[in-house]
Amino acid sequence: MKCNICGGAGHVRLPHFNLKVCDAHFLQLVERRVERAIQKFKMFDRASRVLVAVSGGKDSLSLWHALHRLGYAPDALFIRLGVTPEVERAQALVQKAAAALPGRLHVLDATSYFGGASVQEVARMLRRPVCAVCGLVRRYLMNKFACEHGYDVLATGHNMTDEATALLGNLLHWQDGYLQRQWPVLPKSHPRFAAKVKPLALNYEQDIKQYAVLRGIEHLEESCPFAAGATSRLYKRLLTELEQAQPGIIGAFYLGYIRRGKIQAEPVKLQDCQQCGYPTTIPVCAFCRLLEQFSRKRKVAFSSDSAEAQAS
Ligand code: AMP
Ligand code: ZN
Ligand code: ZN
Repeated sequence: MKCNICGGAGHVRLPHFNLKVCDAHFLQLVERRVERAIQKFKMFDRASRVLVAVSGGKDSLSLWHALHRLGYAPDALFIRLGVTPEVERAQALVQKAAAALPGRLHVLDATSYFGGASVQEVARMLRRPVCAVCGLVRRYLMNKFACEHGYDVLATGHNMTDEATALLGNLLHWQDGYLQRQWPVLPKSHPRFAAKVKPLALNYEQDIKQYAVLRGIEHLEESCPFAAGATSRLYKRLLTELEQAQPGIIGAFYLGYIRRGKIQAEPVKLQDCQQCGYPTTIPVCAFCRLLEQFSRKRKVAFSSDSAEAQAS
């Protein structure tokens, strides 16, 4: 197998681009597509203060590396969502990556907001899906951290396959609001809303995986166990199957969305949360309501515990 670019030994097959390339050209191709996304969507420039949200997975760690290699100078944020062995493993991997890169790694403990409870425990106690609680806590804390620490933009590791999956879900339900908000760049629309960008939006998931392997980026192999039954898993599986039958279809699907331009949805009316002051569409934001519900439930749990203790 020969590299279609230099004629040297090709090791990597990219059926979606109908290409075979050598390792060096593969790495260049992935990084060029990161740069293209940054330029095309005017995400940030080399003077910007960029904060990459890193989970320990292949996408966000590859993004952190690629941005450095492209001459940007991002810092990173890891949020501890629990006190499980997986969280410790993720943090160790993130710290290992940080040791090899310039820039700062911030570690934020989400459990401190919930008296030491993990997002799983919060979700279980409130009988809410773990993914929903985890996503809410993560989004809120990432945004708050970026705003409070003066970052111009918050970058996440969503790749094109993730974005095509979200697009499929949003289209199936014709959710205009979500279709608008899944755009790869959301500018700063409020002093307490950080700009949000997805610089991997033009790279297939499988290419990011291969990039991490070739760059020797150690990462968590397994994906979140709580997402196992999630509908998005089903959509991703179906899209992957489609991609196998029709290489390039994921790219065509997602780029079609991009070509149509940003969808206009009804503008939402924002107000300051009465508790925390961060912008929200309701008087008390979803995060503050979660905190309230949790502390109320926990008091009930404590009192029934002590009632049990007294009775025995
Ligand atoms: P996911 O929803 O798990 O696919 O994650 C989407 C993106 O959110 C990742 O690519 C990361 O950029 C970010 N992210 C996920 N988990 C964390 C975490 N614990 N700390 C910081 N960022 C995270
Ligand atoms: Zn080559
Ligand atoms: Zn609030």
